[in-house]
Amino acid sequence: MLQIKKTTRISFYNIIALLCITFIMPICLGYKNTGNYFLTLAILLLANVTKPSKYTVAFIFFILSFYIPTGFQFGRLNYGFIISAIETDSHETREFLRGFIGLPLVLLFVCWLSLYRYLAIPLFKINKKYRYLCLALLIGVSINSYPKRMIKDAVSYIFQSKKDLTTLKNEAFIPDTFSNVTANPKYNNIIVVVGESVAANYLSLYGYPHDDTPWLRNAPGVFLENYISTAPNTFLSLPRTLAISNGKETSVNNNVVALANRAGYDTYWISNQGFVGEYDTPSTVIAMRANHRYFLKSGDYNSKLVDDFSMLDLLPNILKKPENKVIFIHMIGSHPDPCKRLMGYPQRFSVSGKKSVNCYISSINKLDDFIHRAYNIAKENQKSFAMIYFSDHGMSIDNSDRPVRHGNAEKQNYHVPFFILTNDVNKHIEIDTSISAYQFANIFSFLSGISSQQIKPTSVFDMKSQKIEVFNGGNMVDYQDLSSSIIIH
Ligand SMILES: [Zn+2]
Repeated sequence: MLQIKKTTRISFYNIIALLCITFIMPICLGYKNTGNYFLTLAILLLANVTKPSKYTVAFIFFILSFYIPTGFQFGRLNYGFIISAIETDSHETREFLRGFIGLPLVLLFVCWLSLYRYLAIPLFKINKKYRYLCLALLIGVSINSYPKRMIKDAVSYIFQSKKDLTTLKNEAFIPDTFSNVTANPKYNNIIVVVGESVAANYLSLYGYPHDDTPWLRNAPGVFLENYISTAPNTFLSLPRTLAISNGKETSVNNNVVALANRAGYDTYWISNQGFVGEYDTPSTVIAMRANHRYFLKSGDYNSKLVDDFSMLDLLPNILKKPENKVIFIHMIGSHPDPCKRLMGYPQRFSVSGKKSVNCYISSINKLDDFIHRAYNIAKENQKSFAMIYFSDHGMSIDNSDRPVRHGNAEKQNYHVPFFILTNDVNKHIEIDTSISAYQFANIFSFLSGISSQQIKPTSVFDMKSQKIEVFNGGNMVDYQDLSSSIIIH
């Protein structure tokens, strides 16, 4: 009696283990559907006829399980994850890993325990003929299964990203091909502030109910209400914004820094983003074209956090120089983890129960201050100037376990602030034309008075609303088709 009870209990745990793997694997790897639950269970059972097949299957699931915490939060593996894993500095990696704490980690351990348990299940005792039939079926169902596709994708993404990074490295040496470049500067100084991870919906400038941008809300300048970034993360977005791109393909060598050099401007690039390796990121490749470069994190990229405000300390001396200049300022802005970006800046908002949402709103409050200070510095300099600000992409913000994160499926991942402040505009002007960041080079050319065969200078006042497409990491998709998200307020 006792013996039977014991056996029943063990097989009960075995069933639990099988069910855990059956559900956790497809759900957490981003392949959630009924077919894949049955498929997973079938693979586990069919493999349980010989030791080699069983251990092979368990090993593959074990390897794939490392993706569980990421997949649970972001869904199926994509190229962007691989590229950012390769590109990311160790500080960002730590931020990323912190998102694992909690349920994702629990699921990972449950999966490991279940796999361990699975190994202990006795092999099915069936005769040789049926055993071969089971193995044939196992191969049959696995041949186009999600585990196989996932491994194939991972391998091809790794090769692709290595190839892309090498291409970028080579591209840094390719001269631009701009022709018939002429310059008729309207301003002595053009300042381009490249923001980071700022979703337009979260600025009171654009109607957010908490006043996190009190200065910008009334500031003199031209404000675009519907400016849409090219792509949902820095790596994909900046080359497409700053260089000539058709969406999928980008000629990184033909970028606005190279264009400004050609037109006789002296060019500066000030960055508070990681200088991972000299040519590791596309924005660094573009930055390398600037005549003068200041990487605040250079030499110590993996530990030191630098306040965006310290970039402004460099500005007065640069502005004083007599040449006409284009100065790029690359912020770390509101990049996750936003709490780390405040660096002592007061946190005045308690909008959400989630600390990082409140920090995010405060980081936008800090942006308001940053722009205000930059504007004052430019004004004090007495020379004419135009200052452009845009964010490279938006963010996903909600009340989930990881409330502030990159995403590519919602409008707020692309809808970003854009404005132009100049010494000669004294009113607050709003433009609601839909404008794509793929037109940035045209706007830049107009403000800097540079014409070239390749880029037609266009004023934001002359642009017409058009259908906007964004690059989501895999394809060009219609921005209007993306879902809107609930704004936390
Ligand atoms: Zn970014």
